Amino acid sequence: MMTPSDAGTADMASTPVQFVKGVGPRRAEVLESAGVRTVRDLLYYFPRGYLDRRHVVRVGELRRMTDTGADVTVVGEVRRFATAGFGPKSRFILVIGDETGSVECVWFGGVRYYQKAFHTGERLAISGRLSEFGGRPQFQHPEFDRLSPDEGEEEINWDSLYHTGGVIPLYPSTEELRKVGLDSRGFRRVLKHATASYAESIPEVLPESVISTQHLAPLPLALRAIHFPRSPEEQSAARERLAFDELFFLQLLLAYRHHRVRTEERGISFSVESRLARGLVDSLPFELTSGQRKAIREIAEDMASDRPMNRLLQGDVGSGKTVVALTAMLIAVDNGYQSAFMAPTEILAEQHFRTFSRLLGNLPVTLRLLIGGQSKRLREDIREDVRNGGAQIVIGTHALVQEHVSFAKLGLVVIDEQHRFGVLQRSVLRGKGERPDVLVMTATPIPRTLSLTMYGDLDASVIREMPKGRRAIRTLLRSDQDRESLYDLIRSEVSRGRQAYIVYPIIEESESLDVESAEENYRVLRERVFPDLRVALLHGRLASEEKDRVMNAFAAGEIDILVSTTVIEVGIDVPNATVMVIESAERFGLSQLHQLRGRIGRGSEASTCVLVTKEESLRRGGEDRSEALTRLRVLAETLDGFTVAEEDLRLRGPGEVFGTRQSGLPEFRIADLLNDVALLDRARREAFSLVDADPHLRRPEHAALRMEFEHHFRDLLDLAHVG
Ligand code: ADP
Ligand code: MG
Repeated sequence: MMTPSDAGTADMASTPVQFVKGVGPRRAEVLESAGVRTVRDLLYYFPRGYLDRRHVVRVGELRRMTDTGADVTVVGEVRRFATAGFGPKSRFILVIGDETGSVECVWFGGVRYYQKAFHTGERLAISGRLSEFGGRPQFQHPEFDRLSPDEGEEEINWDSLYHTGGVIPLYPSTEELRKVGLDSRGFRRVLKHATASYAESIPEVLPESVISTQHLAPLPLALRAIHFPRSPEEQSAARERLAFDELFFLQLLLAYRHHRVRTEERGISFSVESRLARGLVDSLPFELTSGQRKAIREIAEDMASDRPMNRLLQGDVGSGKTVVALTAMLIAVDNGYQSAFMAPTEILAEQHFRTFSRLLGNLPVTLRLLIGGQSKRLREDIREDVRNGGAQIVIGTHALVQEHVSFAKLGLVVIDEQHRFGVLQRSVLRGKGERPDVLVMTATPIPRTLSLTMYGDLDASVIREMPKGRRAIRTLLRSDQDRESLYDLIRSEVSRGRQAYIVYPIIEESESLDVESAEENYRVLRERVFPDLRVALLHGRLASEEKDRVMNAFAAGEIDILVSTTVIEVGIDVPNATVMVIESAERFGLSQLHQLRGRIGRGSEASTCVLVTKEESLRRGGEDRSEALTRLRVLAETLDGFTVAEEDLRLRGPGEVFGTRQSGLPEFRIADLLNDVALLDRARREAFSLVDADPHLRRPEHAALRMEFEHHFRDLLDLAHVG
């Protein structure tokens, strides 16, 4: 998605890939299904890694290198070859030598092919990792290139070889590609031709000024060197240039959206002297933190301006984003507008509805809740209220973005836990008003690279501190053998009037036999372990009223232990709950565990989160190398959401953590969201200042850039418009 697919220009780059030497119709067909249609696509088919084979030595030198395990290249003459062994054990042995000695090369299998592949006296370059057999150096399955007979040692043109003697690219491949010979070896040949014949003709897309201020490699050079670098330095310069492009074009899109919203659209200019908002703040049972106050100020400024607000409110779990949003919604209501508040789950929407009702007390505001689980008649009723303006604040799930929901006068859109929604849902909801202000909130504290990528067009407010009086959550890692002591912990907390969560990964045993099922365990917990306590079950498949009833009861302190699936993961707020036991914790992602843990430690009492795992090594108490335990340890060691998120990304990668497309996070081919922070900053600076100076890229020196931009985002243009 981030890679230019077909160039629109009639340049050589858009030549069908079939015409590259060594491709042909059959390979072209397979390549096409892998998304490679043109020469340009092929050039953007980047290596997944490299082998450094520039180390060329004399055969005689190999003897003292066998223990270094290094990749080396030798040049020699085929002295003799033979097959040995039978059937599956057969192997092909080739001996090559130069004036200084000789060395054996071995291939296991494929004997018949190799027997025909060589003849004595021909000259070869051999590359591979050196091993040792019977006290002598040996190459196993080395790569080789044939040298023409007249190529003397001094004149070997290493650049003309495919597999030996240089920094050799390794390519991603698939079963289908391999069937037509496109493994790393096959790709090397094809790309050697493609880079030689076409890389030079790829037009430069970045303006000269950007290339020179950023000291970037020219595009043609980068496209050659990413495949066949002459040195590691050249390879990293090529990578930097191509990664810059990826980041730059996305930032250009964001810069454009940001610019358009700020300068070309008129939104609503609210009067922010709101009696309702003041009334709310004055009646809160706590003091707002300075972070909350600052966020409210920034939001109010945006709302007062006639530019549509497009703001991200970021703050770790429990930092108190909800009241900030409510304040903003009251400003809209005071101005005669409706506010919509969208949450990712019904349980959460219901909780917000309760919270708002409670916080608003006697303030004259009409709240309505709209979720999928309601009866048809009720929903009809609510929709009518929304349509005629009777509903001033509408809280709901994605049911809000359905077609038949229309607002009388929508002025403010708030999206809670934005990372759970796609970019599209945000824009659909916004589309239900006349350029309403938009506030998106997220507790997933994402590293800067990611937030600049996913929310780079939004202005950001960040709440950094937690409300006063919060106590650090203690996080313990326990083996599932220790369950008795956990139950004791729960018992003692409950006896002091506190409440507990026990969380299971899934609700039915069928998914996997060794995963505890919430339903099954609920029965055991209620009947055998805690027969004297009030235990309830909550999961996503319960009917709406049932969920509502259970959550209400838990919030009211009428339930001691809530056995649940991850439906409580986001947003749930019951400050009296002080214990959370997470079963099969290794099955959850880190960020998810952090969110779950955020359900406790919300009041002034000390809280404990216990991560329970079967992991063998934990049980043995020994050395652990498992990835799962490493993850869990991170959580036990830090409460800081940013650290957790960064670790999670490092361990699982952005695609896994965020889900790809629908989260609005583009897939990068070569840029690395974790490590390219500095590069991203540079790309973003250039993109924003460029759009500042020439918003529509109309200057002649930006013509190529404009064209490239349009091609980059052909499939994203609708998003560019709705933003
Ligand atoms: P989140 O940012 O995770 O959405 P919430 O808005 O749900 O957090 O707030 C978490 C809890 O903290 C709620 O019970 C809320 O009432 C309470 N809270 C919010 N602001 C403050 C504050 N300034 N002082 C004390 N408690 C607060
Ligand atoms: Mg929240």
